Amino acid sequence: MAVQTVASTTDTANSVDLGPAAALSCRECGHRVPLGPVFACEECFGPLEIAYDFSGHDTEELRKRIEAGPANIWRYAPLLPVPADVATKPNLNPGWTKLVQADNLARELGVTGGLYVKDDSGNPTHSFKDRVVAQALEAARAFGFTTLSCSSTGNLAGAVGAAAARAGLRSCVFIPHDLEQGKIVMAAVYGGELVGIEGNYDDVNRFCSELIGDPAGEGWGFVNVNLRPYYAEGSKTLAYEICEQLGWRLPDQLVVPIASGSQLTKIDKGLQELIRLGLVEDRPYKIFGAQAEGCSPVSTAFKAGHDVVRPQKPDTIAKSLAIGNPADGPYVLDIARRTGGAVEDVTDAQVVDAIKLLARTEGIFAETAGGVTVGVTKKLIEDGVLDPSLTTVVLNTGDGLKTLDAVAGTGLTATIRPSLESFREAGLV
Ligand SMILES: *Cc1c(COP(=O)(O)O)cnc(C)c1O
Repeated sequence: MAVQTVASTTDTANSVDLGPAAALSCRECGHRVPLGPVFACEECFGPLEIAYDFSGHDTEELRKRIEAGPANIWRYAPLLPVPADVATKPNLNPGWTKLVQADNLARELGVTGGLYVKDDSGNPTHSFKDRVVAQALEAARAFGFTTLSCSSTGNLAGAVGAAAARAGLRSCVFIPHDLEQGKIVMAAVYGGELVGIEGNYDDVNRFCSELIGDPAGEGWGFVNVNLRPYYAEGSKTLAYEICEQLGWRLPDQLVVPIASGSQLTKIDKGLQELIRLGLVEDRPYKIFGAQAEGCSPVSTAFKAGHDVVRPQKPDTIAKSLAIGNPADGPYVLDIARRTGGAVEDVTDAQVVDAIKLLARTEGIFAETAGGVTVGVTKKLIEDGVLDPSLTTVVLNTGDGLKTLDAVAGTGLTATIRPSLESFREAGLV
């Protein structure tokens, strides 16, 4: 990976105040640099992440402050890399989505220990991506970027377009040209520029890395490239919310979708922080990763016992998860193994069945990514890998309205004339 810095903004890096965020730290070698729009270690090229100074906190004070906070991600501002006045600036205020107690689905799957769906389709642009974009937006403002951009599998493009519109910034985002209509319209409607690239997500991402190094990309904040360390922290709020909504308790098992793997690794980071801060009791939890068979580089590596992830060429209806060369793949493998979890995949047919299962049991219409997590949960229970007697949280990260094609066969039960006679003839009474 090429190391890029945005020269014009790095000299202001020392002066930004991003809450408890203290520095950027390399996940490989631990080398620390000041907060700035950089994402790769200058020593070893490893990925940078945010390091915090949480010293001197009082656990009960912190809990009270969070509970008194707004019903969105900013209730956790003391744990995020954001300026103190974040809640007063125009943004989409995502988060605090429903944790649905899924008793009907639990019965269907034989789960007795409590089954919950964390339903992130309730975010402003109907996917979990609003959480991560909200963090990157604050970083972009702090570093003085004027254009918000990203490489996207669809949902991120919409989240960036909406966030930029609300914040009064220009946006220009890049997607594979052949995404679902629902994703394209959701990304375009906010009035920013939307560029389709002839290639898959990995091609789009490579193009964006080149653009960052080129004068054409000057002043551009790519939320998931040069702002990635900040962006990634947004996923921690899923972990915080799940635990708070369970009454400040860790779930025993979580089933999380994997695209780049960023969300899964930061959910783990969020849970670790809650333990370290004394906000939840320190006890074991297991994280399970979920992929579609047609793009399963991480589950393939997990099952083969490998530490490295071999890139694949994606071919699946779960397009929001279709990253063939996932940046955080090796870290996902570490976490699944360390926590005693696993990484599994399901076929496209199983994804469709799982979308319908969740809709029919709980009234939640998930996009294909939600079909992947529910489908993997079912498979892991059947295989005896996931323990049905333990509290389990399954993530639904997006809205089924964006991937209607996946369930295109679903439709009218009958078409009748407007008469009782015709209704009786249809055999529904
Ligand atoms: C982006 C995305 C994810 C997860 O992405 P990561 O790159 O693994 O963080 C999960 N679900 C949906 C619907 C997404 O759009």
